[in-house]
Amino acid sequence: MKYRKPICDCGNELFLSNIITCNRTINDDGYVSVMSCLDAIHSITGTLTCPKCGNTYDAYADEKDRISRGKILSK
Ligand SMILES: [Zn+2]
Repeated sequence: MKYRKPICDCGNELFLSNIITCNRTINDDGYVSVMSCLDAIHSITGTLTCPKCGNTYDAYADEKDRISRGKILSK
């Protein structure tokens, strides 16, 4: 199935916020490591927000880890 970018009910493209939760190591100096986290794509907990009308939608990764629109959260 061809991928379609998440679109708002109003027709605008949606932006993803809070895309990734990630387990990162803390280095010896107390700073968070900037190493990438390989499993990040599997723990998406973000929301999709419409910059035009302000609707927000649940975001999830489909079977190919592509961002898809879930149920509407608020409008
Ligand atoms: Zn919208």
